[in-house]
Amino acid sequence: MVKVDLWRRLHDHASVKLTFELSQRGKPLLRYEGYTFCKKFEHNSRIRWVCSTHCCRGCYAYIRTIENTIITVKNEHNH
Ligand SMILES: [Zn+2]
Repeated sequence: MVKVDLWRRLHDHASVKLTFELSQRGKPLLRYEGYTFCKKFEHNSRIRWVCSTHCCRGCYAYIRTIENTIITVKNEHNH
């Protein structure tokens, strides 16, 4: 039950603050609270998005989605 509530809260939260975009090079980007995430890994319509600006500089923030639904948000950046 707790899990469902958490998921629902994340989902409601995200549906307001999260947008899908295309980068200047045409790659899919996900924007969340001023940060952008790029697609890192896709498997069975599950996508892991990582910080698009600092993932190579030790930033471990990520978002996981299934189709267009968020399942995990870890929006903790080191910048
Ligand atoms: Zn970051």
